[in-house]
Amino acid sequence: MLRPNVVLDSDLVTENRGMATETAIWRDQLNPQERAELGRGAGVIPLARPDILVVGGGIVGVATAMACHEADLGSVLLIEAGRLGSGATGGAAGLLTPEPHEWSDPEPFVELARASLDRWSQLDQSVPGGVGLVELDWIGLAPDPGGFAPHLQPAVEWLEPGEVASLVPGLARPMAGALIRHQARVNPLRSLARLAAGLPAVATGIAAISVAVSGGRVVSVTTTSGDIHPGAVVFATGLPPLLDGLPLDLPASQVKGHLLATEPTSLRLPGTVAPVATQLEDGRLLVGGTFDAGDETPKVQPEVIESILAALYATLPAVRGLKATYQWCCFRPRHPDGRPVIDRVPGLDNAWLTSGHFRTGILMAPITAHVISRWIASDQPPAEATAWSSARFAHR
Ligand SMILES: Cc1cc2nc3c(=O)[nH]c(=O)nc-3n(C[C@H](O)[C@H](O)[C@H](O)COP(=O)(O)OP(=O)(O)OC[C@H]3O[C@@H](n4cnc5c(N)ncnc54)[C@H](O)[C@@H]3O)c2cc1C
Repeated sequence: MLRPNVVLDSDLVTENRGMATETAIWRDQLNPQERAELGRGAGVIPLARPDILVVGGGIVGVATAMACHEADLGSVLLIEAGRLGSGATGGAAGLLTPEPHEWSDPEPFVELARASLDRWSQLDQSVPGGVGLVELDWIGLAPDPGGFAPHLQPAVEWLEPGEVASLVPGLARPMAGALIRHQARVNPLRSLARLAAGLPAVATGIAAISVAVSGGRVVSVTTTSGDIHPGAVVFATGLPPLLDGLPLDLPASQVKGHLLATEPTSLRLPGTVAPVATQLEDGRLLVGGTFDAGDETPKVQPEVIESILAALYATLPAVRGLKATYQWCCFRPRHPDGRPVIDRVPGLDNAWLTSGHFRTGILMAPITAHVISRWIASDQPPAEATAWSSARFAHR
């Protein structure tokens, strides 16, 4: 049985019937080669007996397939139900900002996030043409000046209202803030396409439907285009996979979010200004990242887009009237504690799982991939995996 997290391109990219294009901006920024990469190997399984099968062609699956390939774990096949990046990955904001998580997440999570940003930098060096990493400063505006103070960390520079005003021109009112340097962002689809280009075997438009298990091992995976007999399998399906024959039942849900990109503006913001906007290459502002609890429809809601714009104009009156030229929504895969699972599938020797990356799957993809590839290679769980076991949901 397929669960509804198999989002096809046509669900994420809705038709342009209104003023703005109801699609993420990321695809339009790709060159034709990168765009073609997202639909690579359509409908054809090139390898029926791979050493490693990765199910799910979001950023986590592609990074994991890449890490297994780089680690020489044998032949690697990636399958994806839609096009690569057609799930949460294609709609994400693409921010790689580990340090602000000091204010909201436990230390192991922040350490994992920092390690992953380091890995993003390494990938930008090692992947031909890079992964499109853009280094930026993160500025958090503090309407309540006490907001950040109790948790000031070494990476944070405290900014007085005058300093904020010189960095962020056109604010409606003076605000203090926090500055964190050396964070980053990517176009998630570009990074994914550049990583996928290094993979030897990719098949899109092919969904895993069920698995056969024998002697504590997955012996075959039935897909919409036939059976695959992998040596090992990694499920990187956003939400945990619900496949016939797979003994897995983890609590998870999806949280919808809306984003928009404006037309280009001459106003210059330094990097990303939270919670206001991130400036893209051509001067456009990337705005939003709402949490639309209870909305499970895959459609852009005009009133949410209006509320994102209203909040932008209220904080930055200098851009009042700036239009949204892209508007879109997508669904964050989430476990109840908002943190990912990176684990071996309980009871199976040759199956791994990573799911529920919620707000930070783009950031966490390279370290997740590294942890899983090392685990497969050594047959031992790396230390970083301890905190992300699925066992934490065992007694619900
Ligand atoms: C509005 C918004 C803003 C965000 N901003 C950021 C951000 O700034 N930074 C950040 O780090 N994260 C951000 N995220 C979160 C990020 O998008 C996700 O955490 C991340 O994309 C999850 O990646 P994934 O590869 O696990 O899942 P997905 O991208 O959903 O990929 C899973 C893939 O598996 C495929 N699949 C599922 N089932 C099957 C099957 N049975 N067979 C074959 N294929 C299957 C799906 O089609 C899908 O393509 C944001 C999310 C949203 C919604």
